[in-house]
Formats: sequence, structure tokens, C-alpha cells
Amino acid sequence: MNFRNIIAISLLVFTLQVQAQEASFEVRGFCIAAPKSKGLPAFLKFIEQELVPRKVNTLLLRVDFNYQYKSRPELRDEDALSEEAVKQLVTLCQKNGINLIPQINLLGHQSWAETTYNLLIKYPEFDETPHVKMPEIYEWPNEDGLYCKSYCPLHPEVHGVVFDLVDEIMEVFEAKDFHAGMDEVFFIGDDKCPRCSGVDKAELFAGEVTKIRNHLAQKNRKLWIWGDRLLNGKLTGLGMWEASMNNTHRAIDIIPKDVVICDWHYERAEPTAAYFAMKGFQVITCPWNKPEVARQQTADLKTLKLHSNKTLSEKYLGMIQTVWSGSESFMEVFHEEIEASERQKGSAKCFIALFEELNQK
Ligand SMILES: [Zn+2]
Repeated sequence: MNFRNIIAISLLVFTLQVQAQEASFEVRGFCIAAPKSKGLPAFLKFIEQELVPRKVNTLLLRVDFNYQYKSRPELRDEDALSEEAVKQLVTLCQKNGINLIPQINLLGHQSWAETTYNLLIKYPEFDETPHVKMPEIYEWPNEDGLYCKSYCPLHPEVHGVVFDLVDEIMEVFEAKDFHAGMDEVFFIGDDKCPRCSGVDKAELFAGEVTKIRNHLAQKNRKLWIWGDRLLNGKLTGLGMWEASMNNTHRAIDIIPKDVVICDWHYERAEPTAAYFAMKGFQVITCPWNKPEVARQQTADLKTLKLHSNKTLSEKYLGMIQTVWSGSESFMEVFHEEIEASERQKGSAKCFIALFEELNQK
């Protein structure tokens, strides 16, 4: 073999290695609220016509109480998905190699605006802040600091209830990964809670993450959470939404390292994935409604993956597009079936841009 051939082959091998590394995001995901029963056919079509061609391999569905739970029927939403409906989703996702992951919000997000969700309606004794009354008309900011209600993680009966939901949803979804939400938990360790008062908030948060993780691990299932409570909002300037201003961030050094972190940033491509990876966590970057942010985040994650050693490189799992409207309204905007503002179109445009970026050769 002459010198020129050696150079040519070396270049080819190098190019292939770079391509292989660049193309190796394990997670290419999409996150949205599970459809209601009547929206299911359109959603199944959306999976086949929009997710599959874009090579989406992870579908994170926010289910919460939108399933006809048999173990806890009192917690079902009206018009919740039936077992048969969920099986249609499961079959389609399995056929197309999509990892279908159900989400139930645990700990926080037990209410929204004026609406208390089913868990605290049926079990008001689990409320971390029963003295905070739900307003008739919700406004932010408010005197109580109410964003969403939380359940008390130290209530002796709360896990008996919520783990019934988790077990049942994992069974019917035939899932190996579970997403517990756990973002934007503002009410934790409340001074008036007889159990949590005075307890370190990082320990409370870490304790709840660990309890859920251990429950799932008994059946070889894995816990995924949003990452915001593990970032220091003040020190980093990330603030109270995409990071913690109530001292939960130190939980990052206490929770098990096999929890998968979904690291969301919507306004800027904050490079926090590196922080999670350096702390030993697998991490997924999540945009929402700004195409330029999604493109930059993808480029950043590719750079991190490419220039890290093998141990760190393997921590950068990939990207998930998040959608925070209902799936029916998202699909209407996506298919341009209704008049929508530029802001409403944001997540549809971001989804298209993200997968253009990910699918680039
Ligand atoms: Zn409590």
C-alpha cells in the first residue's frame, strides 16, 4: 500500500468515525400531553406521518389522570383513555421502534391556576400547604407564592396511592422508563407542614426522587425527571423557573446517578447539560418553542458528545422536543387547521427545526 492510499484510508476512517459519533444520539424524542379519547385517531396518524419519518424514537406522554385506572378509579379524569386506547398507542410505537414513556406528575404540579387536580381533590390530607386556598381567579405573582400545589412527600400514605398509579400505567404502557415530572416544585418543606417543617429542602426533594427511583428499580424500570430543581437559580442567574431558588439544588449530590435528567431551557441554549454529565447523570436537552434555541442546543450537545471522553460522551443521550399545549390543539396548529399566532406556532416550528437539525447528514 502506498503512502497516498494510507492517507486516503485514514481520512475515510476518520470521517466515518466523526459521522458515527455525530449521528449517535440515543434519544430523539417528542413530549406532549396524551390525547383525550376523541383525539386518539388523529394522534396515531400524527405518529405515523410526522414522528416516524423524522426518526423520533422516544415518545414521552403526559398521562397524569387521563387513564381509566382500575387500582384507583377515584382518580380517573372524565373521558380518560381506556386500556384498549393505550394499547393502540403501544402497538404503533412498538412497531416503529419508539420508546413510549408515560409521565405522571409526582410531588409538584398537583394543581394549575384555579384547578386542583384529582389527587388532592380526593386526598386533601396529602396537600403540603392546606392553608393556601385555591383562588377564584388565579394571578401570578400572588401573596401565597402559589404556582402549583405539591403533595407532602413525608405523608405516610401518599406513596401507597401514587405508586398504584405508577405501577398500573407502567404495566399498561409496557414501559421500561417512567417520567415523574418533578419540575417547578415551589411548595416543599413548608414551615406549617407538621412533617416537613424544618427539614432540609434538598434532602426532602432528594428523598422523594430516591423513593420513586427505588420503587421503579424493583422491576428494572428507570426514573426520568425534569432537571430544573437540581440547578442553583441564584448563583447561575437561571432564576426560579428553570432552576431552584429554594435550596433544592443540592439534591444533585444526593440522588442516585441512574436518574435520567431532562434538562429544559426555552429562552437560551444554556449549557447545563455539561453540568449534569459532570455530576454523573445521563442528560437530555429539551427545547420548546424557539427554533433558533433548538438548533443551537443540538449543535452544543453534538460538540459536547464529540469532544468528551467515552464516559462523559455516553452521558449526552440526546434531545426531546417539548409541547406544552394539549395534543389536539398542537395538531391543529401543526396542520394549519386553525388561525394561530406566531407564538402558538412556536412549538410546531421548533419541532420541525429540531428534527431538521438532528437528521442532517
Ligand atoms: Zn410535608
